Amino acid sequence: MAGRSYDYIVIGAGSAGCVIANRLTEDAGVRVLLLEAGGQDSSMFIHMPASAAIAARDPRITWGYNTDPEPHLDDRSIQEVRGRVLGGSSSVNGMVANRGNPRDYDGWAAGGLPTWSYAHVLPYFRKMETFDRGADDWRGGAGPQHIETCPATNPLDQAFLASGPQAGYQRTEDQNGRQHEGFHVAQRFTRNGRRWSTAAGYLRPVLGRNNLTLEIQAHVQRVVFDGKRAVAVEYRHQGVATRAEAEREVILCGGTINSPQTLLLSGVGDAQHLSEHEIPVVAHVPAVGRHLEDHLIVPIQYSTSKPVSVARKLSRLGRWRTGLEWLLFKKGLGTTNFCETGCFFRSSDDIAFANIQHEFYPLCANMGSDESNFAEGFMFSMGIMRPGSQGRVKLVNADPSTHPSIRFNYLEAQDDCRQMIDGVRKTREMVHQKAWDELRGTELTPGEQTQTDEEILAWIRSIGSTEYHPCSTCRMGTDEGSVTDAEGRVHDVEGLRVVDASIMPSNVTANLNAPVIMIAEKIADAIAGRTPLAPLEDAARRAA
Ligand SMILES: Cc1cc2nc3c(=O)[nH]c(=O)nc-3n(C[C@H](O)[C@H](O)[C@H](O)COP(=O)(O)OP(=O)(O)OC[C@H]3O[C@@H](n4cnc5c(N)ncnc54)[C@H](O)[C@@H]3O)c2cc1C
Repeated sequence: MAGRSYDYIVIGAGSAGCVIANRLTEDAGVRVLLLEAGGQDSSMFIHMPASAAIAARDPRITWGYNTDPEPHLDDRSIQEVRGRVLGGSSSVNGMVANRGNPRDYDGWAAGGLPTWSYAHVLPYFRKMETFDRGADDWRGGAGPQHIETCPATNPLDQAFLASGPQAGYQRTEDQNGRQHEGFHVAQRFTRNGRRWSTAAGYLRPVLGRNNLTLEIQAHVQRVVFDGKRAVAVEYRHQGVATRAEAEREVILCGGTINSPQTLLLSGVGDAQHLSEHEIPVVAHVPAVGRHLEDHLIVPIQYSTSKPVSVARKLSRLGRWRTGLEWLLFKKGLGTTNFCETGCFFRSSDDIAFANIQHEFYPLCANMGSDESNFAEGFMFSMGIMRPGSQGRVKLVNADPSTHPSIRFNYLEAQDDCRQMIDGVRKTREMVHQKAWDELRGTELTPGEQTQTDEEILAWIRSIGSTEYHPCSTCRMGTDEGSVTDAEGRVHDVEGLRVVDASIMPSNVTANLNAPVIMIAEKIADAIAGRTPLAPLEDAARRAA
């Protein structure tokens, strides 16, 4: 089965894949094939920010993954949404824009990856974005990824912001700039009232390039090796078996679940696991699929004493009105992702830097549910940022169309339980500040009756779910626990890289879309052989 030939084949047009395809084809002499298993991003529910939750539940544009029963979450299976569409998960995510704490990246550097310190990644965070409040030492003003500041005018958002300093926390004017920790007005991946995915920012503007070929509904089955060198990929294109040759490299951007799955199907992984499924071993790289991390979240909900919750506007009629107004004018409630304020804080004084995130919502909703279930009130979606618990992705069989087995082992680490319990208690303290006196109703979840550590933990186990931030199944590093080097090159083979959330050495104190785009920008320079952007030591030193 001979195929067409390209310099680079990029697998997956998600957050990372769109960046890589864009940056590599800046050189007109380089031919790139971009393969995406999903289809066009044409659904209105992708583009209207307020309908993000509908997009995330649409089986036509998502992979439909569920975890195995999670042993420390009462054996519940968790729905782990992943985009299967142009833009990948950046087309179905919640659009909350955060980079993380400088110490996240300095931690990567200290762990053996010196070129991933905050000073080294900062120029790429600046390069990727156009921030609506303009460029400064930390922010970018001319990149493809638009980031806007939320209005945050709802009285509940205002009470949230005011309660932080009253409870002894800091307020930060730019959580993605000089100061990460504290209460903030949220920023989001939108532009002029629409979602701004990487398909919008990086892919669509360059689809006219003659050296870029995009194929959708192209599900890669495996990477083909000549000895240890990746030379081609086999894929099903609209159901037909197809092959394409890569003269320079294959770049796997399939995301945290699919990238390890594709490596394993191609014979790169733990030799014993591969032999269980009779897959010939190309390279014994035991860490493939291991070290799976995520951010576990719980919804802490309150009723309000005044009728100010956004949920009031989301009756059936209200939703129709919202959709129509957005379609006609790109204005109104349709332009919000509902999460317009948030904070990063420490669950106890002995923690070195913020370990808990609040995404604050002026409504109540069951985020992990299929039903559209907005209710009046307000909600803290509270998540632990640097968990100790780790899980894995592994094959069920050697058929690429079979979903892999996924288990996060949320709350396996005792310290994760401690941090979550303390986070719930701190949240209650925040709600008892003066700023809430006019608006606070009663605590709906976990509820006043839930008081002891044991009771709070039991509630967390019964309701905890994913913030959709899986990472680290193909970690960058130099030790046994890694899969790639510091530039995404897979150990023990040639001509094959992984570039996506799976190569993060560990999770960061943020939502993951911006970090993934930064990673792709940085490695694109390495692939193209460009001199890396100079580290911004001074700005990094002045950031906290
Ligand atoms: C519901 C949800 C809400 C989220 N909310 C936020 C948020 O508010 N803010 C934030 O910053 N982050 C958020 N995230 C996380 C963030 O969007 C992801 O971490 C990020 O998009 C991951 O990028 P990636 O490139 O690793 O993978 P993806 O963007 O998932 O891209 C992988 C792509 O590869 C394709 N693919 C996979 N396997 C194959 C194959 N074999 N052949 C061909 N194509 C393949 C997939 O279809 C997909 O398009 C959310 C994610 C989800 C799902």
